[in-house]
Amino acid sequence: MLRVGVVGCGAIGKEHIKRLNNKLQGVTVVVVSDVFEEGAKTAAALCDGKVYTDANALINDAEVDAIVCTSPGFAHVETVLAAIKAGKPVFCEKPLATTADDCKKIVDAEIASGKHLVQVGFMRRYDKGYIQVKEALDSGEFGAPLMLHCTHRNPEVGTDYTTPMAVHDTAIHEIDCLHWLVDDEYESAQVIMPGSTKYTHSELKDPQIMLLRTKKGICIDVEVFVNCKFGYDINCEVVCEEGVVKMPAPATPIIRKEGRLSTGIETSWINRFIDSYDVELQDWVNSVAKGEVNGPTAWDGYVAAVTADALVRAQQSGNIEAIVTGECPKFYK
Ligand code: NAD
Repeated sequence: MLRVGVVGCGAIGKEHIKRLNNKLQGVTVVVVSDVFEEGAKTAAALCDGKVYTDANALINDAEVDAIVCTSPGFAHVETVLAAIKAGKPVFCEKPLATTADDCKKIVDAEIASGKHLVQVGFMRRYDKGYIQVKEALDSGEFGAPLMLHCTHRNPEVGTDYTTPMAVHDTAIHEIDCLHWLVDDEYESAQVIMPGSTKYTHSELKDPQIMLLRTKKGICIDVEVFVNCKFGYDINCEVVCEEGVVKMPAPATPIIRKEGRLSTGIETSWINRFIDSYDVELQDWVNSVAKGEVNGPTAWDGYVAAVTADALVRAQQSGNIEAIVTGECPKFYK
């Protein structure tokens, strides 16, 4: 039984505690920590766990075999570096860290430790729809991928959501998932701003078209539209040399009523990806038990940060911006 300590007991921290303890196999949450003690106590009640307010005390607790880090992004680097120092596996919710430099520090520390310890919570790689698309592409049946047309639409966002957040909080999932899907690396980024919807405000350009080009020349367009009003609408279509592979939307009943044929569109990101969180964390538990990391690595976390920075530069400059990550270290190949 893998004994886990959870750092950061907010929304997703509590969700993961319930998931790890009640749904998944071979794992139990034994300790939780939060800088906010009351929050930690509430979370501890979900798993009958011990409470700390200091993440380092949790990481170094002899009863903790592995760590799940669900604190806010700015706090991740410290926890992940401490877990590496303690030689313990750590599942870190995205982002790995809030700057590419901090992500690189984690990459360097993990390589220096000589052990694969870090997995980043990019759960789309565990979504059934994306997996089906990847399997189709990997089969080679459709030839090489040439173009990807994707959408990331949300019904609405809060008034504190601003233009760069369309990259850091929204497109970040596509950034990780799409290069994995086509097994390629990004080369450049550009952002085109159409006229904005009347439902946005002066600090948020909405919608945006984000363009990514890979080293093999694949052109990717991602429409990010976070006040689209009608639903949480994630689409991904891959145009290949000998066919087009489109990700299926989760099935909902097809209704015939009053002269109309209709089907539902998901409205919440939680519902759309709920199954992938279960698959992701079960896979992490299983691979940690074997001393491995199967999912997105610290290098993937670093690539996502560098790519996001290039997209934000492109939002500001209107130019094509280079994405320079350097060579992927052998350790991650
Ligand atoms: P939240 O604000 O609800 O919770 C964060 C918690 O961490 C709070 O209880 C806060 O008191 C605590 N905290 C703050 N600083 C801390 C520190 N230094 N050490 C320990 N605890 C600390 O946030 P959330 O919505 O649960 O998000 C947490 C992380 O999960 C973020 O990085 C977010 O991007 C990520 N997330 C990922 C997904 C996904 O789709 N993979 C979805 C939601 C959230």
